[in-house]
Amino acid sequence: MKSSKTLALFATILFAANLQAQQTTLDPQTRQLAHDVFKQLIEINSTDSVGSTTAVAEAMRQRLLDAGFSPSDVVVLGPNPRKGNMVARLHGRPGSTLKPILIICHTDVVEAKREDWTTDPFVFTEKDGFFYGRGTQDMKDSDAAMVMAFIRMKRENYVPDRDLILALTADEEGGKSNGVDWLIKNQRSLIDAEYVVNPDGGGVDMQNGKPLNMDVDATEKLYGDYQLTALNPGGHSSLPVPDNAIYHIANALQRLQNYTFPFELNAITRAYFAKMSTLQSGQTAADMKAILATPPDKAAIQRLSENPEYNSIMHTTCVATRLSGGHANNALPQTAQANVNCRILPGHALEETRQDLIRIFNDPKITVRYVTDGGEVFDSAPDRKALPPAALKPEVMQPLEALVNKMWPGIPVIPTMATGASDGVYTNAAGMPTYGISGIALETNDVRAHGKDERLPIDSYYKGVDFYYQFVKALGSEK
Ligand SMILES: [Zn+2]
Repeated sequence: MKSSKTLALFATILFAANLQAQQTTLDPQTRQLAHDVFKQLIEINSTDSVGSTTAVAEAMRQRLLDAGFSPSDVVVLGPNPRKGNMVARLHGRPGSTLKPILIICHTDVVEAKREDWTTDPFVFTEKDGFFYGRGTQDMKDSDAAMVMAFIRMKRENYVPDRDLILALTADEEGGKSNGVDWLIKNQRSLIDAEYVVNPDGGGVDMQNGKPLNMDVDATEKLYGDYQLTALNPGGHSSLPVPDNAIYHIANALQRLQNYTFPFELNAITRAYFAKMSTLQSGQTAADMKAILATPPDKAAIQRLSENPEYNSIMHTTCVATRLSGGHANNALPQTAQANVNCRILPGHALEETRQDLIRIFNDPKITVRYVTDGGEVFDSAPDRKALPPAALKPEVMQPLEALVNKMWPGIPVIPTMATGASDGVYTNAAGMPTYGISGIALETNDVRAHGKDERLPIDSYYKGVDFYYQFVKALGSEK
């Protein structure tokens, strides 16, 4: 990593200049309320260890009631007292036959230790043009901005063409009570929708204060962990034999290292590379066009695969992430284990990938088991898969592109497949196409989600407040 104080200073000046240019049009009262809601959210601890998403849900319910929602339209519910979810409904015009639009926002945050941070992570701190606090990027910024959108729509008696539903949910970051999963299984009618907007994905990328593009996550990969185990009777290390548990694991991992899962594009990643090919230049642009041809150009795939992000978009990936084995320096190992973490392309199942791994390792001495997010180990994996993405909905993309053009003139809206995972995995699997759309602009080199001193430029927040309000209203007025 290179660093330069001069460059950093230059970036700061540019950034400050840009802040001036990007002042939003919120009236002072709306701005103050948006500030207060954000502060309130940051200061309610909603970590899995000691926090409560119920406290968040109740606080936001009160905000919506204060804005005029009727108590029956804002409910808090969940599997236990600490993992509550809030679901609010803004009713569409009577007699509308259109299915609702659902917005999902997780309210839990990743753990944060006071001693690791410069400021208290659970005190909303305004400093140097930023809001600091756990969740300022992921994703209490969007939680607050979405609550603000619903408050404003209610206050002005806005009646959309169809019901708009806001769900503030638990345990996206971890924990055993994922709110989206729970709502789908237990309260489907409350959140049933034609499609879903999830501000936990996508967003505006900035460099030195200059907005570059807006990503829209239109599909995502599936997360899966697999545990490899080799067992052996072991023995004295002065009498080694070829059959060694550690060598079995080492050889298996080497086979994995040398293996590439098949190249595969879907409707979204095709659209992504088509768009990117017009923004890139030279060999990269040519390669992006060449992989879209029939048949795709193998050399182009190989060159693009050298970029980890493009590689991950074109392939299922599985990589060794943990390793353990042996019990003494002078003994042959009786056990060796590794964890392999896979990011699976839409359309492929967890169990299918386990079978792929068994085939790649091609070693009967190695067992491959599935590890759940909670750490439980099973002999086989679920048949769950991320469904292949549907084509992008024009009724989502057209108003989005119009609004982006108004708020960040000239930047392209780029549909992508998230290589990570979000709560969209549950809504997509439930047949509700889900789009990761965020109006928050972040410096590409200042992503601090899950990290220390998480912060958000103050102007990005207020602009996001404005964006979500206008965007949700546009979606509610499409037909
Ligand atoms: Zn998140």
